[in-house]
Amino acid sequence: MIPMVNLKAQYAEIKDEVERGLAETIENCSFILGPNVQAFEKEAADYLGVKHAIGVGSGTDALHLALIAEGIGAGDEVITTAFTFIATAEAIKYVGATPIFVDIDPRTYNISPEAIEAAITPKTKAIMPVHLFGQPADMTEIVQLCEQYNLKLIEDACQSFGARINDKQSGAIGHAGGYSFFPSKNLGAFGDGGLVVTNSDETAAKIKQLRNHGSDVRYYHDVIGYNSRLDEMQAVILRAKLKRIDQYNKARRHVAHLYSELMADLPLITPYEDGLGEHVYHQYVLLSDRRDDILKALQDKQIGCAIYYPVPLHQQNVFKEECAGLSLPVTEAVSRTCFALPICPFLEDATIRDIVGIIRGVLTA
Ligand SMILES: *Cc1c(COP(=O)(O)O)cnc(C)c1O
Repeated sequence: MIPMVNLKAQYAEIKDEVERGLAETIENCSFILGPNVQAFEKEAADYLGVKHAIGVGSGTDALHLALIAEGIGAGDEVITTAFTFIATAEAIKYVGATPIFVDIDPRTYNISPEAIEAAITPKTKAIMPVHLFGQPADMTEIVQLCEQYNLKLIEDACQSFGARINDKQSGAIGHAGGYSFFPSKNLGAFGDGGLVVTNSDETAAKIKQLRNHGSDVRYYHDVIGYNSRLDEMQAVILRAKLKRIDQYNKARRHVAHLYSELMADLPLITPYEDGLGEHVYHQYVLLSDRRDDILKALQDKQIGCAIYYPVPLHQQNVFKEECAGLSLPVTEAVSRTCFALPICPFLEDATIRDIVGIIRGVLTA
């Protein structure tokens, strides 16, 4: 059995460090916003090159709180992609704003800057790009649009921790960025967790209040906030993994490049790197008209595989009515043929060769 992500292999490497940290936390009983959350926030801010990093309950919460802190609310339009996980759009809905879904680039599957510009109206308040599958969106173009039209830029970096764009980090370029530490993400905890980053003191102060019941001083509440703190135990695990994140992402790139090399002669579309930023391969996603046959062959051999994403957001039941009549041809075409293969830092070359062998068998039979 080959899982999509091999979390067990990763754990073996950090076991001692994690067990020590967890035992200490249990001894100290400092369970909420304790020393490890504080240390992790400092370490993450340093790594990401930002002034503030604030640990929150999940990636969804990170995006939600970032939108509130940036003043996005009822009546506002936020331009984003429909080819993403639902949480991107959920966060926009939570604040009462309207997600405006636009089409993607046919090669990278990231949001298209031209499509963004065409969708800007007087109601547009923000752009929320997603660095999909670990490849940074075209931030040069998107930053320029935000400046030109005076829009907030909130990055969904839930799949791209550690993906650089020249000397900057994805997620750390806009007014605020949100990361997810869901266990299967590039930087994953052992439960839910998230992070908001910003260079604005004001935004950081608001997020700190919002994650903790609208309070700076215990039992004094300035706004209606939330209970959304990064858990102390999760921070222990994240600190151990953050030290190794570059190594993990490098290993992911190796896996992806080997897959692509071995499949170069096959009639399918392997991931395209546009070179605008470094792809860290949260997922290895490819396109094939024979997707169903390939997935069946992999499943028969107990090899993990998945479809990200089978139904774009504008066609989901929850958005069907709101988006009636909206057509996103590239998004729709990609969602019909895309599928993902197992990827993680610990996938061995021999396994990659076996997986490619199965796919080759289907396509050359
Ligand atoms: C995982 C993910 C989220 C949400 O993160 P959670 O931590 O699961 O709440 C948001 N956006 C994208 C693109 C994601 O992949």
